[in-house]
Amino acid sequence: MSQTLQAIRGMNDILPDEAELWEQFEETVIDWLRAYAYRPIRMPLVEPTPLFARAIGTATDIVEKEMYSFVDSLNGEQLTLRPEGTAGCVRAVLEHNLLYDGAKRLYYLGPMFRHERPQKGRYRQFHQIGVEAMGFAGPDIDAEQILMCQRLWDDLGLADIRLEINSLGQTEERQKHRADLVAYLEEHAEVLDADARRRLQSNPLRILDSKNPAMQEIVEAAPKLIEYLGEESLAHFAGVQALLKDAGIPYRINPRLVRGLDYYNLTVFEWVTDQLGSQGTVCAGGRYDGLIAQLGGKTQPACGFAIGVERLLALWKEQGHVAASVGPDVYVVHQGEQAARFAFRVAEALRDAGFALQLHCGGGSFKAQMKRADASGAELAVIIGDIEAAANEVSLKPLRATAEQRRVPFDQLAEAIGELLFEEEDEDGGI
Ligand code: ATP
Ligand code: MG
Repeated sequence: MSQTLQAIRGMNDILPDEAELWEQFEETVIDWLRAYAYRPIRMPLVEPTPLFARAIGTATDIVEKEMYSFVDSLNGEQLTLRPEGTAGCVRAVLEHNLLYDGAKRLYYLGPMFRHERPQKGRYRQFHQIGVEAMGFAGPDIDAEQILMCQRLWDDLGLADIRLEINSLGQTEERQKHRADLVAYLEEHAEVLDADARRRLQSNPLRILDSKNPAMQEIVEAAPKLIEYLGEESLAHFAGVQALLKDAGIPYRINPRLVRGLDYYNLTVFEWVTDQLGSQGTVCAGGRYDGLIAQLGGKTQPACGFAIGVERLLALWKEQGHVAASVGPDVYVVHQGEQAARFAFRVAEALRDAGFALQLHCGGGSFKAQMKRADASGAELAVIIGDIEAAANEVSLKPLRATAEQRRVPFDQLAEAIGELLFEEEDEDGGI
C-alpha cells in the first residue's frame, strides 16, 4: 500500500485492551450515577453553532479558537461538533420541557471535540462524563455533586486528587470586581503577555488563570473576587463548605479558580492531581444559574460538572489499576463435518446456560485450534470430533489447570462446566 490511512491528529482509536478498561470504568460510573438518582440523556454530537456562542461566551478559548465548525453543504446551516455537553443538554431540556414537573438530575457520557494542540491529556476528540442538576437553587446540590465525585474516586480506588473550590458570586459582584481588576492590570500592563493583553477587555477574569510564570506575582496580588461577594453569595458559599466539612472532604479555596466558560456563577470547583503532569485537572464544574434563561428558558438554577475520561483513566492506570481479563469461559474446537454442526448446537446450548463461548471458526488442525483456545484466555476447551458427535458427547479439557481431559455427555455438559468454573473460583479464594 503506497499510503496508509491514519486517524486525525489528536483523535485516538481505543483498541480492545484499552476499550475493555473503558467498559469496566463505565460500569462503575453508571452504578455510581444511579446511586445518586441521576438519569441518562443522550444528545446529538452536532449542534447549531450559535448554541455554543450563546451558551459558552464568545470571548472564551472554546468559542474563540477551539470549535470544529462547518457549513452544512446541503442547506447552508452553521454546525459545530460539540466542544462540551452542558449547552446541548440545556437545549434538549428546554426543547422537551423536561423541567415542567420539577428539578432534574441528568448525565451523559461521550466524545467532545476541541481544536487544541494535542499532548498528553489533551486531545481533539476526548470524552467527558457530564453531570447536570437543573432546577436546584441551594448549596446542598453543589455539595452533593462534590461529595459524589469523592465517592467515585473511592469506588475506583483513586488517591491523591485534591479539591479546589471558589465562588464567582453574581453578575453585579463580578462587574464591580472586573472594573477594579482591569484598572489594576492596566497599571501593570508592562508585565502582561500578549494573551493577557488581548483578554484585558474581553475576559479579564481569565487572566487570573494564567500559567505564565512571569505574571504570577501580579496575578497573586490582583483584587480577589471573593472580597466583592455580598451576603447572599457568601452564605451560599458557606453552606457548601459546611456540608463538605460534615462529610470530611478536605478542600482548598483557590481565589484564582475562574473556569474557562462564561456561564458559571457562585460555586466553582476542580479536582486536580499532581500525577499527570500539566494536564492535572480531572474534573471541573460549578453552578450556572443564568444559562437556562440565556438559552431562552424560564430562569432556573442549575449546577453541574464534567469528568475528563482520558485523564481519569490515565490516573487509574498510573495508580496501578489493570483491566480485569474478559476472555470467554469456554473455547469450542471441532473437526469434521458432523462435528462442526454439533459444535454449533453445543455452543448455543451453553450460551443458553449463561456461559461465554468462543466457537472456533475457519477450520485448521486440532493442534492449531488448541493454540487458539489457549490464547483466547478461556478456562476450558470443549473438543468435538466426528466420533464424539456421533455419541452425542464432547471432550472437556481444563486449559489453566492440570486436570485430565474427559468425555461428558451433551446433556450433562453445562453442569460439568459450571462445576469446573466454580471450583476454580473457589481455589482463587472464591467470590
Ligand atoms: P483546560 O484548562 O485543561 O483546557 P477546560 O477548562 O477547558 O480545561 P472544561 O471545559 O471544564 O475544561 O472540561 C472539563 C474537563 O474535561 C477538564 O477538566 C478535563 O479533564 C477535560 N478536558 C477538557 N479539554 C480536554 C481535552 N482537550 N482533552 C482531554 N480532556 C479534556
Ligand atoms: Mg480548555
